[in-house]
Amino acid sequence: MKPKIRELKEAAISLFTPAYTTKFPYVEHVPFEKFRGKPVVDDQNCVGCETCANVCPSHAITFTDDREKGIRTIRRDYSKCIFCGQCEEHCITGKGVKLSDKIFDLSQFDRSKNVEYQEKELLICKNCGAVITTREHIRFLHKKLGPKAFASVLNLNVLNEKLRLAEGQDLDVEVKDHLKRKDMFNILCPNCLRLVLIKYL
Ligand code: SF4
Ligand code: SF4
Repeated sequence: MKPKIRELKEAAISLFTPAYTTKFPYVEHVPFEKFRGKPVVDDQNCVGCETCANVCPSHAITFTDDREKGIRTIRRDYSKCIFCGQCEEHCITGKGVKLSDKIFDLSQFDRSKNVEYQEKELLICKNCGAVITTREHIRFLHKKLGPKAFASVLNLNVLNEKLRLAEGQDLDVEVKDHLKRKDMFNILCPNCLRLVLIKYL
């Protein structure tokens, strides 16, 4: 079958027109304005709240809590990232993760090089051992809420612990022989705190 005249014409034109594609990686590529590249974490402004893991549609962000060590590990696998920007959009501090407008080249022979880890100290219930959240998360909420944070006994206890307002008092001790009234001022998860409040107040 003879080629169509239109196709021959296009082939001839393309011989004399410049290429639409860039010469990357031989020539540096400059992304356009508002380009969404690799998410970059600012550990100083990330409190380990796990919100970004919950909104990430491709499950690129996951976390595991080690109650024995009291550590939350956040894993970010950028091989799975689709650069949707949900993590940046929903970050509770607004500064924990931001999509770079420059870093885009994530090609690797070894995919493990695209994985980043963070560790955050956990806040664990002194009675039942449940994970409450991270210490940084509670402190961030405390700062954000201001005086309203004192409405929460847990917040008050964590602030006391941080500022040493109650030096000498047993604020962070093991719960022994069941929950007692004094444990209201211990680090308890909402469920255990509710038990104390119902029983003793
Ligand atoms: S940009 Fe989207 S896919 Fe990538 S880590 Fe953030 S939420 Fe997940
Ligand atoms: S939402 Fe923000 S503060 Fe929370 S874990 Fe993700 S990056 Fe960190």
